[in-house]
Amino acid sequence: MTEATLIPPGSTVGMLGGGQLGRMTALAAARLGYRTHVFTPEPDSPCAQVCAEATVAEFTDHAALIQFAASVDVVTLEWENVPPEALVLLAEHVPTRPGAGVLAVTRDRIHEKAFINRLGIKTAPWRPAHSVADVASAVQDLGRPAVLKAARLGYDGKGQSLLRADSDLAAAWHHLSEGHALDAVVEGFVDYACEVSVIVARSPDGSRCAYPTVENQHEHHILARTIVPARIAPAIAAQAEDIATRIAEALGVIGLLAVEMFVTRDGQVLVNELAPRPHNSGHWTLDACATSQFEQLVRAVCGLPLGPTDRPCNAVMENLIGDQVERWPELMAAPEARLHLYGKREIRPGRKLGHVTWIGRTFGS
Ligand code: AMP
Repeated sequence: MTEATLIPPGSTVGMLGGGQLGRMTALAAARLGYRTHVFTPEPDSPCAQVCAEATVAEFTDHAALIQFAASVDVVTLEWENVPPEALVLLAEHVPTRPGAGVLAVTRDRIHEKAFINRLGIKTAPWRPAHSVADVASAVQDLGRPAVLKAARLGYDGKGQSLLRADSDLAAAWHHLSEGHALDAVVEGFVDYACEVSVIVARSPDGSRCAYPTVENQHEHHILARTIVPARIAPAIAAQAEDIATRIAEALGVIGLLAVEMFVTRDGQVLVNELAPRPHNSGHWTLDACATSQFEQLVRAVCGLPLGPTDRPCNAVMENLIGDQVERWPELMAAPEARLHLYGKREIRPGRKLGHVTWIGRTFGS
């Protein structure tokens, strides 16, 4: 279909996925005068709580998708594991930003890494693996430790296994594959100095902007905190921003692209992972940036001018994971803390229930 470039305020944004990323996008959309209709399999999702409308259905329910498409003016997403067929179907009826082609690359680590390397951009050394024999030959090449990762559906360290000198490769493979066919990658272990990320926004007319490079600290494979700005040399931060922008451009993404990278001890920047949606490492922009990543997503997919991304102050964003959310009374009382709670009823270990951004804070202060 011909795509209307400008989707004006008063229109309805369709959101695929009902988590906190969708919730914060819907709040930003409302501020600009848009309505949001969320499509998610999850009843009482964090996003549905703040949306004008919610469809609770599976992403494979074609009738529900067609009905949803008829009720919205543009579709975007907060979860990249939406089946590409769902996006293809939606795109027959309504502009879908990002499109299925972007997801086909970013939902599969094999396609993603090959795409990045084809641009001449470095990743950790890696090999595709479809069997234990492939894993054995990959570790021959790459050495140990190495990391075995399922090609699809992994997040927050799920679907990964560290292959140490004494690890049983067959056991690691069977643990990940659970007896089913599996596509995976084996990556060389990166002894990085720090992890960083950059979020790029890109509009239908090709205009784009990048947020400053931030530093991410993970605990138990889950993002624990983001330090703004990253504590790296300005030239390395600029290199990370350039890499992220080149990938967004090559993918032709409309919306947001988050690029997670490792900075090695000798100053190399290696891309780890892409996400064509708002990203946890961009939550600080809600409180410490003129335009939040969520507002920027709405601006990008609706063809509005992109907003400024400069950073007026330092900030540290901390996730509230599991029972850390019980700190809310203390956080609410701290003047420099900006608290965000996601409205999730059940506290579970490893579940992201909120975050707090400390304004003006330098890490360690
Ligand atoms: P991922 O799911 O690929 O984002 O990985 C989750 C986390 O595991 C990363 O943020 C790193 O902290 C760690 N990790 C992943 N891959 C590697 C690697 N090749 N070398 C060292 N650490 C890694």
